[in-house]
Amino acid sequence: ERGLSLLQADSLSVPPHIRSLIDRLNAADYECYVVGGFLRDLLLDRPTHDIDLATSALPEEVMALFSDYRTIPTGLIHGTVTVLAEDDPVEVTTFRKEGLYSDHRRPDEVWFTKSLEEDLKRRDFTINALAWHPDLGLVDPFGGRTDLEDGIIRAVGRPTDRFHEDALRILRALRLASELGFSIEHKTADAMHDKRSLLSHVASERIRIELLRILRAEHFAFVLTKYAAIMTVVLPEMGPLRQEMQGELSRYDIAVERAKRVDDAEQRLAALLYDIDIPEIGKTVAERLRFSNNSVKRIDALVSSRNDYPEADKRSVWRALHRWGDVLFGAILELRRADLEVRVASDEKALKKLDAITGIKEALLQSGKDLQLSDLAISGHDLLAAGYRGEAIGEALEYLLLRVCVDDLPNRPEVLLAELETRGGEAKSGSPHIHR
Ligand code: ATP
Ligand code: MG
Repeated sequence: ERGLSLLQADSLSVPPHIRSLIDRLNAADYECYVVGGFLRDLLLDRPTHDIDLATSALPEEVMALFSDYRTIPTGLIHGTVTVLAEDDPVEVTTFRKEGLYSDHRRPDEVWFTKSLEEDLKRRDFTINALAWHPDLGLVDPFGGRTDLEDGIIRAVGRPTDRFHEDALRILRALRLASELGFSIEHKTADAMHDKRSLLSHVASERIRIELLRILRAEHFAFVLTKYAAIMTVVLPEMGPLRQEMQGELSRYDIAVERAKRVDDAEQRLAALLYDIDIPEIGKTVAERLRFSNNSVKRIDALVSSRNDYPEADKRSVWRALHRWGDVLFGAILELRRADLEVRVASDEKALKKLDAITGIKEALLQSGKDLQLSDLAISGHDLLAAGYRGEAIGEALEYLLLRVCVDDLPNRPEVLLAELETRGGEAKSGSPHIHR
């Protein structure tokens, strides 16, 4: 049980610059309430992010009333005006009710209404369907206050209907469970399970956003384990892992254990996919979920590092550092350690090698040997002048960088040029020559 002392209407700590927006609307004979995630998080005494207000005023009326503020017509058709109050974007949304949903994602029509209750009824969960007014206190038609106190996520209205209308709500429920550590009321959970295949109607971007929030939050392992049947709709490649036992645990459970041992959301996603034998699986999943190009590269590198892992010598560790950079290489090593820790049969040899690689990497960084081509004392121009052509230029520079960083060759122009001479017999043009 959570002690929600803040549930007394008069003690809700709405910041003054938000309070003055509410007061202005109410003084102008409209109604304005604090609603949504902002109210939920205030009541729980958790950090708030975006601020949701609901009002009987129409969008044009909100814009007119706050003409001395910067306002953005964010979604006029859906009734949302963003008012910038001391740089905080406040979403002021007109009370509305929604028509039928034919695409399992968005209502075909919305209507503005003067009724707060109508507005609360369209909201997804009881803990998100509360409203607070400075004079009237808490408005709670669906028992959201008790559910907040008890830590329960419960659909407003008939759960199957609500998830059938909008399948994104299934992931929103899991995300809230992961962030708040709440449990999902069983009829709500059953309906989520029954309607899970409708997630195919949800845009990949929205799935990605909710998935990352699930993975970032404190209770993600519980959610992934308890709602595996839903998570494997989003990550179907993980489906078969649930059936394969390794000792007491399934390979799915082991993947979750691996993810628990790393910290950021993309790294956790990579940890989930790490042990799946499908070529380029990290890239495939990240592209399907429309991650940014950088994230696709990062997730791909993290997952494929399983089969592309350096030896414990200075040369190959330096190559890995040069290729991935300190941060990504560090994340790769963390993932490797997590994987070794969750293996059923412990592998002392592999752990020793990991320690050695980590040590060599640290030593290279400490001695400033994580140089880039641009740090070299000579450039491509110097090699052109020395008669090098085409790909041989880049290859020679890479070779010198390795000699400087790994073999402590002094980084001075005359030394570097002499090194190329003594290297002798190398082509000054043509295809690159890779030294391993
Ligand atoms: P957070 O701000 O932490 O992302 P939130 O619950 O505020 O969580 P928003 O997307 O900001 O999420 O939505 C604000 C409010 O709008 C919600 O609290 C809920 O009342 C309502 N809402 C949002 N999305 C839906 C949905 N798909 N179906 C029904 N109601 C929704
Ligand atoms: Mg919100």
